[in-house]
Amino acid sequence: MAGIVANNYGSFDVTFVGGNGAELVDKNGKKYIDFVSGIGVNCLGHNNPVLVKALTDQIKKEIHIGNYYTSDTNLAFAEELTKATGMKRVYFCNSGAEANEAAIKLARKFGWLESKDKGGKRKTIVTLKQSFHGRSLATLMATGQEKFHPDCFAPYPDGFKYIEPGDFDAIEKTFDDSVCAFMMECIQGEGGVNLVDEKWAKAACDAARKAGALVVIDEVQTGMGRTGALFASLAMGLEPDVITAAKGIAGGVPMGACIFGGRATDVFVAGDHQSTFGGNPLACAGGRAVLAEMLKPGFFEHVNKVGKLITDTINSWKLPCVTLVHGKGLMLGIDVTQAPGEIQKKCLENGLCVSTAGTKAVRFLPPLVLTEEQALAGLAIFKKVLESV
Ligand SMILES: *Cc1c(COP(=O)(O)O)cnc(C)c1O
Repeated sequence: MAGIVANNYGSFDVTFVGGNGAELVDKNGKKYIDFVSGIGVNCLGHNNPVLVKALTDQIKKEIHIGNYYTSDTNLAFAEELTKATGMKRVYFCNSGAEANEAAIKLARKFGWLESKDKGGKRKTIVTLKQSFHGRSLATLMATGQEKFHPDCFAPYPDGFKYIEPGDFDAIEKTFDDSVCAFMMECIQGEGGVNLVDEKWAKAACDAARKAGALVVIDEVQTGMGRTGALFASLAMGLEPDVITAAKGIAGGVPMGACIFGGRATDVFVAGDHQSTFGGNPLACAGGRAVLAEMLKPGFFEHVNKVGKLITDTINSWKLPCVTLVHGKGLMLGIDVTQAPGEIQKKCLENGLCVSTAGTKAVRFLPPLVLTEEQALAGLAIFKKVLESV
């Protein structure tokens, strides 16, 4: 089949045919432990009975209805998600890039409304260096990494400024009345699993608010339980106006959400921004099942416990090739002296799926239902590979 599916990914030559929880099986019957979950998507694991039932029941009711009409599943998920986050509104879409694109449009309109008496100049969006916000043209430009702005795709939309996370001087210098929003990830996923210092994040969000700008937190990767809380920014007390989510939100069904409140609540009016599939009942049924599972007592405790077990275990090896284990919950980066891509390949050969991030990190984003036994079994493979590469 090579060449028929556009060669945009450079995928490994492994074809999975099914799985259960945090385990996968390929077409030759070989078993794998999954520390990737489709890049932070299959948060309830593979073939989760609760999710499968919710989706099959919904398929029999309606798969799609379109936004000329309302759907009870859509309304129910919107209500549950805003209640869980303390927000007022949600715009549903189909991916992380789309959720951020919606947040960018919302921020621009907010800035325009706020400054239209003075010529509508409040339009700049401030983001972080090493960030990642998606692959549409605007979200590429929001991404603070030069390598994501190659000439071949130019021209790009303008109006983005980047500051270094941790740089207090930059906060002082950057936030003024030209800024409509500050947008950041609490942990930069694709950038290398970089934790943004909590004190600095609070100071930056406060400065943005004080300058009259919205606080937008991209929780496409950190959200939906990944870091051991429903949303990292809420656990950190950043008081965002806008949270974007996707990846794990519907357990594997494509879905994104731009969740907002505060000063952002009434910015969008009918016609401002839309999507044919947005809020599709099938995706919403997945979202409801995922959220209900996560809000059960003990779910986030499990994520934190297994995350700590992984971190403690790797640190206990005291391997010279491991320079740092970092992250939160089950979003972990393991900085290694070898090429992360080489380790990823060798792990796969040995029955363990891992990801990479930035230039030096092997990244773990397992299903949040990963058991302690599975974590230790995966780590045994990881250790063997680290010692052989
Ligand atoms: C994955 C990711 C995106 C892009 O999501 P897509 O669904 O691939 O468009 C945006 N922001 C962050 C933080 C991500 O991790």
